[in-house]
Amino acid sequence: MSTPFREFALMCEKLENISSKLSKIQLVNSFLKKLVPDELPIAVRMIIGKIFPPWSDKNLDISWNSILKILKSLTKIDDKEIIEIYNRCGDPGELFRIVMKEKQLTKQQVLLGGKLTVLEVYRMFESIARIKGKGSRERKERILYAILSKAEPLEAKFIIRMILGEMRHGVSEGIMEEALSDYLGVPLETLRRAHMIFGDLGKIIEIAVREGIEHIIHPKFRLFNPIKPMLAQTAQNIQEVIKEHGKTAFEYKFDGARVQIHKKDDEVRIFSRRLTDVTISLPDIVELIKREIRSREIVVEGEVIAISKDNKPLPFQQLMKRFKRIRNIEKKVKELPTRLFLFDILYLDGKLLIDEPYIKRRALLENIVRNIDLAPMLVTDNISEAQKFLEQALEHGHEGLMAKKLNSRYTPGVRGKNWFKIKKALRLDLVIVAAEWGHGRRHNWLSDYYLATRDLETGEFLIVGKTFKGLTDAEFKDITKRLLELKIGERRRTVFVKPEIVAEVAFNEIQKSPKYKSGYALRFARIVRIREDKSPEDADSIQRIKILYERQFKGKSMR
Ligand code: ATP
Repeated sequence: MSTPFREFALMCEKLENISSKLSKIQLVNSFLKKLVPDELPIAVRMIIGKIFPPWSDKNLDISWNSILKILKSLTKIDDKEIIEIYNRCGDPGELFRIVMKEKQLTKQQVLLGGKLTVLEVYRMFESIARIKGKGSRERKERILYAILSKAEPLEAKFIIRMILGEMRHGVSEGIMEEALSDYLGVPLETLRRAHMIFGDLGKIIEIAVREGIEHIIHPKFRLFNPIKPMLAQTAQNIQEVIKEHGKTAFEYKFDGARVQIHKKDDEVRIFSRRLTDVTISLPDIVELIKREIRSREIVVEGEVIAISKDNKPLPFQQLMKRFKRIRNIEKKVKELPTRLFLFDILYLDGKLLIDEPYIKRRALLENIVRNIDLAPMLVTDNISEAQKFLEQALEHGHEGLMAKKLNSRYTPGVRGKNWFKIKKALRLDLVIVAAEWGHGRRHNWLSDYYLATRDLETGEFLIVGKTFKGLTDAEFKDITKRLLELKIGERRRTVFVKPEIVAEVAFNEIQKSPKYKSGYALRFARIVRIREDKSPEDADSIQRIKILYERQFKGKSMR
């Protein structure tokens, strides 16, 4: 028997209305306790606003236009009313709840309402994700219509929030880790380590239930199940790094796409920074690995960059064309050659290496890999030597340097002080949350973007600036199309969108500003590029902006 979806929705609603972390954890756990094993991984992901595991290539791909169309046909509401209600509540999920509650539902809807189960909702999402190709939009809409016509207003609210990936009830991955540690009766550290290795909380509960808790207490790495990438903090300059680490390994920081490559005999799979399977886009890298790495089972990490005919690094956007293309990939491989630079090894023939010190992993990598480039590296505690190395990296068209502590372990998913990045410009990754129609030549484009940062505590997106600078005409056109698909509301010249597109933004200074709720504004912001490889969760946080703001007064450069 599957659990009624109504119970899921009621729990989410309660979560939204309580603020204590402990009470949230208790509520989540008492809900999980009611579920049958098949529902557990699904519910764990759904609660944190994820429908599929991170490495899954399943994607709902439902536009906001489709969602609105369904709302209109379900409730016969018109655009004017939608805008009025949306402006009042400011949330797509609430919009659905209010409209569905206020509008008279058909007899059929009354009859079917409240009969959905957790598994049924998940399976419908799965069928939506399976639909590809011609006519897919209509087919996806039909299934979503079927789900929503069975949903009660509160259920619809959370179905919509799940589709948009923003649950707004404050249960983040971190809180879910705590809830699961409690639920499974293992220390939080144990749970976190298992999370690092399996990369997905749904997977953890699935393993615990199906295979036994000892597989969580002593997690064994599984090939083709990607590990979360270790992340870096930003250092202001070389001095700061050497002061912190002493003798440090500096590596070129490439401006490409991070890849985690798993190989078992002749099977190779490549995962992106977001852990999605991108093997299909990189057949040349697959061949290279098969040809040059003899080990039976291995996981290595590196950065792929696109290169020009004369072997120079090309801008990141060029490389992204590779990932966008699914058909005719052979042609793209010829047009846009890539180069792989490896920088780490995480697993070799049955042994997980993440607890080995960096410098040992690097030596092992050098031993095993033939004819694949490794990231150039310099170990030094001499500031001017390291500075020269940085200039050399920039001269060769790379982004800067990574600085890695010699004896550091590989800590998946952690942005700690063991890795630093040193870049030239002041840059932040921000999310476009709204856009204004342009003027004059740009009047057909959404060309002025509101850039937002995440609040790590509340999950809210807070605006810190606005810019119309940095994109080419072709990019304006493309972004306009994408933003309109993400539209969730409109007021005069401003279109509000689902936070999805991440832009790397260069700027000159952070100022305090009463203009935005965030309290901060960026001076001379301009978009450097759109970060297709990043999701809104990866955007820089308001907490980080506060730190950068403070640093400005210490007379130091920020990166
Ligand atoms: P960024 O926006 O600076 O690329 P990020 O959030 O993707 O940052 P960070 O851990 O902060 O990730 O910065 C390191 C990133 O730099 C890696 O994710 C990887 O894509 C890239 N990179 C390039 N060269 C290296 C290298 N030699 N070692 C590690 N990462 C590298």
